[in-house]
Amino acid sequence: MSPEELALFPFLTETSEYVEELDFSLDSLMTSIAFESVRRRGFERVMQAFDGEVSKPSFGNDKEVLSELLSYPYARILVSCVNEPAFTRRYALAEATAVHSIMKKRIEKDPEFVLDIGKDFGVSAVQSEEHIRIYFSDYIRYSLSMKDLSWKLINRHLEHGYVTIQREEFARLLQEAVRKRIEGSLPIPEIPDEIRNACDAQVTELKAKYEEQRQNLGDADLGEVDFSMFPPCINKALSNVREGVNLAHSMRFAMVSFLLNVGMQTDDVVNAFNVSPDFSEEKTRYQVEHIANNQYKTPSCATMQTYGNCVGKDNMCAKIRHPLSYYSALKFLAAKRQAEEEKYGKDEEKTANENNNLENNEPG
Ligand code: SF4
Repeated sequence: MSPEELALFPFLTETSEYVEELDFSLDSLMTSIAFESVRRRGFERVMQAFDGEVSKPSFGNDKEVLSELLSYPYARILVSCVNEPAFTRRYALAEATAVHSIMKKRIEKDPEFVLDIGKDFGVSAVQSEEHIRIYFSDYIRYSLSMKDLSWKLINRHLEHGYVTIQREEFARLLQEAVRKRIEGSLPIPEIPDEIRNACDAQVTELKAKYEEQRQNLGDADLGEVDFSMFPPCINKALSNVREGVNLAHSMRFAMVSFLLNVGMQTDDVVNAFNVSPDFSEEKTRYQVEHIANNQYKTPSCATMQTYGNCVGKDNMCAKIRHPLSYYSALKFLAAKRQAEEEKYGKDEEKTANENNNLENNEPG
């Protein structure tokens, strides 16, 4: 591959070897003024994980190619220093999504090129007219996490150990392979203190942004799902579903994203709809998984109002601006109350013990 192509596929073995041969010291990458553009781009690609996809530049000269190549190891250092498993997953997905976009286009014109990328992941596949035939164990390895029923092996044509798939599907399987490889290789173990110190300002900014988005998305650890703490709008949607009333698309999206954001499993969310006579598991699962896979955020109260989905406002609603804040506020208050009650119980027990001791020690 040319250096330009290697820069677009930085996770490949060939790219690592090429970068190693360039023989730049980590120290200069972290501190030298000559690598400032590399660090800027590395930071940018990690930041872009918050938007779901790392951009892929077009190159004007060798310096830009080099910058792109080296920005990947730098980005990996940043992600390792942030060291939040959920963020690592998001970063890996954003890198893999970007590569998928490239492969999807490339595979139509040049399938052999994409098949070669597959070889780096040990994927055995061949071109067969307009299709790709992939060895079944490789197919299973990378399709396992795809929730759509169409990916199930039972729904595929299997012949002599090979599964026939569309070209675009092969690109999608490779996206999963890339995501797994990147996620599995992070965080980098034992990063020296001097390296951490050199990128401390960027790591602090990333952590702050991650924390802010985590709060907004409500993917903080909210503990077990407690239906009694759902806001009125979501309760109304749930009762409509139970009564067989069709939800507007915007309300359906709000309800599903809310249930996923508070920690419900995909299967449970799908089952929540399994009450209406025209329930289609396949269709519902597709929609729920689409929302789950893209980690969509529940709409804010303002957006809910715009679409007429804000119904049954109560006192807590006056204090929050997001349905997830309603839920997390009630969870927080409940946990606080429980801690106070436990403390009160312990104090009571202590007093009772002290009284008991006093009584036992009283002179007869
Ligand atoms: S104010 Fe927000 S949380 Fe309350 S009902 Fe309206 S949309 Fe739901």
